Amino acid sequence: MEKRDYYEVLGVDKKASADEIKKAYKKMAIKYHPDRNPGDKEAEEKFKEAAEAYEVLSDENKRARYDQFGHAGMGGAAGGGYGGAGMSMDDIFSMFGDIFGGHFGGGFSGFGGGGRQQARRFRGSDLRIKVKLSLKEIAEGVEKKLKLKKYVPCEHCNGTGAEAGSGTETCPECHGTGSVTRTQQSIFGMMQTQSVCPRCGGEGKIIKNKCPHCSGEGIVYAEEIVTVKIPAGVAEGMQLSMNGKGNAGKRNGVPGDLLILIEEEPHAELIRDENDLIYNLLLDVPTAALGGTADIPTIDSKVRVKIEAGTQPGKVLRLRGKGLPSVNGYGTGDLLVNISVYIPETLSRDEKAAMEKFQKSDNFRPNESLKDKIFRKFKSLFD
Ligand SMILES: [Zn+2]
Ligand SMILES: [Zn+2]
Repeated sequence: MEKRDYYEVLGVDKKASADEIKKAYKKMAIKYHPDRNPGDKEAEEKFKEAAEAYEVLSDENKRARYDQFGHAGMGGAAGGGYGGAGMSMDDIFSMFGDIFGGHFGGGFSGFGGGGRQQARRFRGSDLRIKVKLSLKEIAEGVEKKLKLKKYVPCEHCNGTGAEAGSGTETCPECHGTGSVTRTQQSIFGMMQTQSVCPRCGGEGKIIKNKCPHCSGEGIVYAEEIVTVKIPAGVAEGMQLSMNGKGNAGKRNGVPGDLLILIEEEPHAELIRDENDLIYNLLLDVPTAALGGTADIPTIDSKVRVKIEAGTQPGKVLRLRGKGLPSVNGYGTGDLLVNISVYIPETLSRDEKAAMEKFQKSDNFRPNESLKDKIFRKFKSLFD
């Protein structure tokens, strides 16, 4: 299914301010909220879609990346592979619960907390890696299997952090709410402050016996093979993100994201200029004068091109569609062949004699109108 534009999802302009985006999301979330639309699958999808759009557009960095690269930059590439829309209702709640503040009757009874306010879940940290790609891999898109060292859920306790059979109990300090209220005497009178419960770290529950393999954290450091699908047309410095493929969150918390920074291996013969490729062809003098053919390397093979008689150095041949595909899927660049002519640095006696003969020929000297024509062509390069 084609992913909708995030701005379109929220019904806002591309130049919308952070405040306008927040307001638009709030409107959508209230309209499609599961409490108001029980059992309505379409409303649920709309609710999730809006949350995903808001997650990106409310974050300055993610928004900039989205503006530049579209869904491809977010890891929502056309080929699938990324967990783009993989947000559950729980994730949405833990991410944006605060946006509703007091406006929605004190929270989401529909899921998660079962009436009381849902306690906090730990979020795993993002994992940043670099992936080096050849131009051939960039041209075609590539699937890489990467061995990553990262936090994964502890197998012995299924990520709960509790010794088998021991389970958890409601935190006696905060009675399961995850936060504690303190009343303090200040110069302004009695003041109440709310903070994260120090006993349970905001989870609302504590473990009776900690799992010895992960010391009760529910996560262990281990190697994992992650398959990363990289769309064609990426470039040095681009960052892709895979939702939920970063470090696991403590005690079955929300996993962080995997952020993939693209590095480009230089090609031996081709230079990249955005989606175009440039090749410098060095012709010998006789071929430039008489014409002939030349073999031009492309990313995966080579092509033979015709050289017209009388080809000037500085001439550029454009091989359409032989460049790189655009990362957004719109078209393909060209291969530009920049022609230079090789002049021998030393000459044999015979060659020298031949050259001296050419030197006497008027045809070998550019006349005024030809100089003017070449000058105008040169000048046009700078317009
Ligand atoms: Zn507590
Ligand atoms: Zn464990």
